[in-house]
Amino acid sequence: MIPVVGRRLLQQFAAAEATTLLPVTASRAYTSPSVQQQAEAATQAAAAAPRIVFQQQQGEEGVSSSSSPTPASSSNRRPRWLEQLGVIRTDWTREEIAEVYHTPILDLVYNAAAVHRMYNDPQMVQRCTLLSIKTGGCPENCNYCSQSSHWDNTGVKAEKLLDLEPVYQAALRAHEAGSTRFCMGAAWRGPSQIGPRQWQRVLDMVSKIRGLGMEVCTTLGMVTPEQASQLREAGLTAYNHNLDTSPEYYGKVTTTRKYEVSGC
Ligand code: SF4
Repeated sequence: MIPVVGRRLLQQFAAAEATTLLPVTASRAYTSPSVQQQAEAATQAAAAAPRIVFQQQQGEEGVSSSSSPTPASSSNRRPRWLEQLGVIRTDWTREEIAEVYHTPILDLVYNAAAVHRMYNDPQMVQRCTLLSIKTGGCPENCNYCSQSSHWDNTGVKAEKLLDLEPVYQAALRAHEAGSTRFCMGAAWRGPSQIGPRQWQRVLDMVSKIRGLGMEVCTTLGMVTPEQASQLREAGLTAYNHNLDTSPEYYGKVTTTRKYEVSGC
């Protein structure tokens, strides 16, 4: 279940997701903030974010810290990711990511919680249900995956694509149990591996479950732009795919495909 080609569609999905998941308070409907609102929220959050440095004790050997945090002086550099906390950006540099990576864990937790509160009711948890609609026998060789047909003794046998009705019944049970999203995953390289009737069955699953009023997402491996459009027309809310790792390390995770795929 991997990289996908329908990037434009994914962006549309992402935009739809952002709209869906942008609550402000627990008691009223949430609306998507404008870029300006995002920037204002980011400025407020950045101002509220703790500037914690530990003063070195004078006259002691080595580096020791005072027991209580002290506000940093105004000359301390505020990294851009902290100044623009919560602003959706696509221009991250490796240096910035390294900066985030090396930030003390509790500062990260604090800032992550601040961003979460900008867009979500902190007391709200969405319940989602995941169903494998086609298990095992995958021709890919992801090193970590028990569903790959390349590995012995995983205890996972190849199964056929489930029929529409049992999948719908599973979604119905999930809906009645309080789930608002239903996700379907398939162990294969992509839908191009199956025939048109089976593909139509998958599209029917999406539209029928969407008819319950649930959000629907899938993870079906590499899809063509046309297949992505068909999923969207069927009512798909989001498409999931695993990046797994960086392009440089990708060959250590799987060798049956490349990080960047130009065709399915
Ligand atoms: S082996 Fe197949 S099912 Fe498993 S992660 Fe890789 S692509 Fe997905």
